[in-house]
Amino acid sequence: MRVLSVASEAVPLIKTGGLADVVGALPGALAPLGVDQRVMIPAYSGILESLGNVQEVWADWNLYGSHVRLFKGRVGTTTVLALDAPQMFHRDGGPYAGAQGDYWDNPERFAALSWAAAEVARDGMGDGWKPDILHAHDWQAGLAPAYLHYYGSGGVKSVMTIHNIAFQGVTDGGRLESLRLPWHAWHPDHAEYHGNISTLKIGLALSDAITTVSPTYAEELMRPEFGMGLQGLIATRAGALHGILNGVDDTVWSPEKDAYITTYTSRTLDKKAENRAALIEEFGLGDVPGPLAVVVSRLTWQKGIDLLSEALPGFIADGGGLVLLGSGESSLEQAALSAAQNWPDRIGVRIGYDEALSHRMMAGGDAVLVPSRFEPCGLTQMYGLKYGTVPVVAATGGLNDTVIGATPASLGANAATGVTFHPIDGIALANALRRLTSLYRDRAVWPHLVKRAMRADVSWDGPAKAYAALYGSLAE
Ligand code: ADP
Repeated sequence: MRVLSVASEAVPLIKTGGLADVVGALPGALAPLGVDQRVMIPAYSGILESLGNVQEVWADWNLYGSHVRLFKGRVGTTTVLALDAPQMFHRDGGPYAGAQGDYWDNPERFAALSWAAAEVARDGMGDGWKPDILHAHDWQAGLAPAYLHYYGSGGVKSVMTIHNIAFQGVTDGGRLESLRLPWHAWHPDHAEYHGNISTLKIGLALSDAITTVSPTYAEELMRPEFGMGLQGLIATRAGALHGILNGVDDTVWSPEKDAYITTYTSRTLDKKAENRAALIEEFGLGDVPGPLAVVVSRLTWQKGIDLLSEALPGFIADGGGLVLLGSGESSLEQAALSAAQNWPDRIGVRIGYDEALSHRMMAGGDAVLVPSRFEPCGLTQMYGLKYGTVPVVAATGGLNDTVIGATPASLGANAATGVTFHPIDGIALANALRRLTSLYRDRAVWPHLVKRAMRADVSWDGPAKAYAALYGSLAE
């Protein structure tokens, strides 16, 4: 089974969020199951230089007016296909935006990626490799299933994965031709979306199967509160929709092997305490008699970071502490910084993106907070489970599917792995933190909760089997 996975980012080459973790981890998780998956991404500045054994496998002399080449290379054990089009992908800012905001030609940049993907899927590439399945991730790859549908699939089936429905690739309807869509794509059942074009919508409409990153999010997406306008379309495709959780790449995230921390296992939790002490020292905090909570997150409305301001006073008064790492909306950054000013002994904040620090926090925290208003899957609560850093999560999306909330019943059944709360508001979060503090103080309960969290299966084994089964059923 051969699968071409198409996305705008993939670890370890380029990452802005969980999408990159998933796209980067899938090939390694699928290989033992006999799935040969290649990953196709744009060749942003520096990407080609990071690949080994680089070889040209396809070219187009006139893709959006320029000579575009596809290079095959290796990173670790994964075969990467990097689409080299410097005028489109070498930019000063990030993959999607620079100092002036989103790049004006994002629709065409990612249409080019999708076009190249559909062509090499349909016709095969220079080294004779041709996939059975094209797997498109998010709006950036949404046109790829559409191009297969309109211009011939060559027998290739397509899968469209929604990592976050908030990003829909919406652009002006006048771009139909420039995105190489036929006139009949201008229809509410295909690309047309309230007078605009949505590249995610057309991918969802025309792919052979749809997946999203948790069973709960799959259900939620059919409801107006979560579907963000696409709930109707998704509901009509319910029979083709699959919720498959993400896993954690344990070559990157494992307390036993993590190069950034003092390593530990569930039998050497005294070493976890060393990480805690180091984290407290790094942030210049004083004594934290209650649980030390950590947050590693984009600072956006989705992530519910604003709910902390209502919940923190009580948590701090009860002895808790907080270390937060993230960046995003400036009002949320400011609120976090002023909380750290108010409680310098208990709250530490770092604005920015820091991979190594995120590992030290996961190892040193007692709990990881994920109060998201919606969360397709979420990765940090799963890192928390692996690191015995008890997740405190809103009961939504993948958070709901990965954490078993502590209740008298779940504790009695030795099943609880964290704390969950609902509704998703400041009062419920404050109550959840109170529950966390009392669990932490109960020495007959806490160590068992930590160890149970560490035993939770957040590996790629189950999810990889589910993807392999889906690919297999489509290819038949
Ligand atoms: P999303 O993709 O919506 O941002 P996820 O929980 O799925 O949320 O994935 C976020 C990923 O990005 C995780 O791997 C998390 O550790 C990482 N991350 C988020 N913010 C930061 C940051 N400021 N520094 C380091 N890593 C971060």
